[in-house]
Amino acid sequence: MTAHRPLRTAGDLVEAGLIDASTEEAISRVASRYAIAISPVVAGLIDRADPQDPIARQFVPDAAELTLTPEERADPIGDGAHSPVTGIVHRYPDRVLLKAVHVCPVYCRFCFRREMVGPQGLGTLTPSELDAAIAYIADHSEIWEVILTGGDPLVLSPRRLGEILERLGAIDHVKVVRFHTRVPVVEPHRVDADLIAALKSSGKATYVALHANHPRELTPEARAAAARLIDSGIVMVSQSVLLKGVNDDPEVLAELMRAFVETRIKPYYLHHPDLAPGTSHFRLTIEEGQALVASLRGRVSGLCQPTYILDIPGGHGKAVISAGAIEAEGGGCYTVTDFRGNEHAYPPQG
Ligand code: SF4
Repeated sequence: MTAHRPLRTAGDLVEAGLIDASTEEAISRVASRYAIAISPVVAGLIDRADPQDPIARQFVPDAAELTLTPEERADPIGDGAHSPVTGIVHRYPDRVLLKAVHVCPVYCRFCFRREMVGPQGLGTLTPSELDAAIAYIADHSEIWEVILTGGDPLVLSPRRLGEILERLGAIDHVKVVRFHTRVPVVEPHRVDADLIAALKSSGKATYVALHANHPRELTPEARAAAARLIDSGIVMVSQSVLLKGVNDDPEVLAELMRAFVETRIKPYYLHHPDLAPGTSHFRLTIEEGQALVASLRGRVSGLCQPTYILDIPGGHGKAVISAGAIEAEGGGCYTVTDFRGNEHAYPPQG
């Protein structure tokens, strides 16, 4: 059955044949904690005959999300520790996140901001919060890049996006604007002339980082949406999360990276899964991740090599964790060094 509107409840999922009616009650409990949304495009990509379908695994809730483990945390990458004003995360000197909206067209079951996004999440910045966030950027001349994330900034209307972008465009020291989004994959028809004009309306160098985790997400429609962005002068990079049961396979990973490059999207980050609540069924070990990343070397074009990174819990930023970059200390423990040179235990102790 093809849905014509996003699936948002356990009942919707039963009706669409994506979960069994016997699991509806457990999935309703998941839904009361973590938002559900599966766009019609994504619902149409799911192979209902495959109980291990990697698209379903990313978007269809699972009762395993009710299982919390001690190392998990509500704010796994520590946004809160670096938020000087609502909607801004200023973790690194030369760039900030601007989280204008905490809504997404789909809700990924492994989302690192799952406690913040969705109808019960942090919502959209109010006009005065947005004013304060933009004033913060204007007041900090060291901010060279603004990264619009959230949530998915491309859920905003072109008019709203354009208003924000024009205000960023008036700030001289901001030279680069980047968007983190899943829209070209999950709602490719939304990438139209109005949206593209809005994305470019700052007049700055404009980058779009596309989040996709499995090669089947790069459909002809998604590739065409990316081509419209790139042909307009926007640069695209990828970001993916290494996920058990989705892309923890050398062939799948190679195919995903090749699909990005074929689409003129440069593979950028491959994230180790974060310690988000109720996501242990997605997590693999760093050692397993390193072996998968190493499997790409030599076998697949240099253009297809992403950087394997960990967001250090607590808000200490990213660390490269490919083999050779960090050494295991036994028992699955590592010491990771943040960009300031400080060392942190991973997984975090206590
Ligand atoms: S699109 Fe990003 S912010 Fe939204 S649910 Fe997925 S991972 Fe989370």
